Amino acid sequence: SIVVTGATGELGRLVIDALLTGESAVPAASVAAVVRDKEKAADLAERGVELRIADYNRPETLADAFEAGDRVLLISGSEVGRRVAQHGAVIDAAKAAGVAQLAYTGVLGGPEADFALADEHKATEELILASGLPHTFLRNGWYSENYTANLAPVLAHGAVVANAGEGRIASASRADYAAAAAAVLTGPAEEHLGRAYELSGDTAWSLAEYAAEVAGQTGREIAYSDVPAATHLEILTGAGVPAPFAEILVDVDRAVALGALALRTGDLARLIGRPTTPIAESIKEALAAS
Ligand code: NDP
Repeated sequence: SIVVTGATGELGRLVIDALLTGESAVPAASVAAVVRDKEKAADLAERGVELRIADYNRPETLADAFEAGDRVLLISGSEVGRRVAQHGAVIDAAKAAGVAQLAYTGVLGGPEADFALADEHKATEELILASGLPHTFLRNGWYSENYTANLAPVLAHGAVVANAGEGRIASASRADYAAAAAAVLTGPAEEHLGRAYELSGDTAWSLAEYAAEVAGQTGREIAYSDVPAATHLEILTGAGVPAPFAEILVDVDRAVALGALALRTGDLARLIGRPTTPIAESIKEALAAS
């Protein structure tokens, strides 16, 4: 089977969608979803996808999550700080089952990514290499939705606040990254085994350009307010973001300023066989949905 973990998450649902309806569509009977909450996955079961219930935090539940010959997508977990142990448990289970391919959603730059949020991805890639499993690294750049899901405060304050300087971001939509994952899980595995794809958008934009695009589409005045890291930290914690996570976000902006999320290799467009979704398009969709 083609097995997707984190299938009830935002990226996971789009991967399942791409597998069932995309360019490389496969029968639902050949797709399995590893989820921790069966209720949340009811719609997936309704579409004919097999559910395998497992929790990254309980290794014993992962024993039946994979079968010999499965092609598996491990979607990185969302509990920052716990992910190396969680991913390690998934890798051990995949190894014990004898899967044919383990694809992993890491971060753009892989071992070169020099920000705190990348540490758990680097450690996971090392665990996968040490496991000897046939693997594919999907090193995802930023989702455009990281920004467009936060348009409400931008519109309320007339400002995009960050400490990212003039750094550029080669973002793509979640659906673009999902289509790439579906592409490496279908078709001849040999093409993708042992490879690391650096996935990012075709165009890299700055936050000043982002603010100008939002302004253009809404007819409002929106400025880019590039503040010192300490000020940004205060603003985030003041808005209710827990301090440890606010620190991670400020550290990401520091890395953005240095160009860490600007890498463009063309891997994403090549895998999906079309240009990536422009940021203007993602802004338009988010405004239409709000
Ligand atoms: P979501 O938070 O929507 O999805 C995370 C998925 O992981 C969910 O399905 C969740 O299950 C599952 N999960 C979390 N913990 C466990 C656990 N203990 N056991 C089993 N499953 C678990 O994130 P996205 O889909 O948007 O993104 C996917 C991943 O990509 C994120 O988890 C994160 O690692 C990374 N990411 C990348 C970004 C980027 O810009 N490149 C931005 C943000 C995140 P459930 O549905 O039950 O909650």
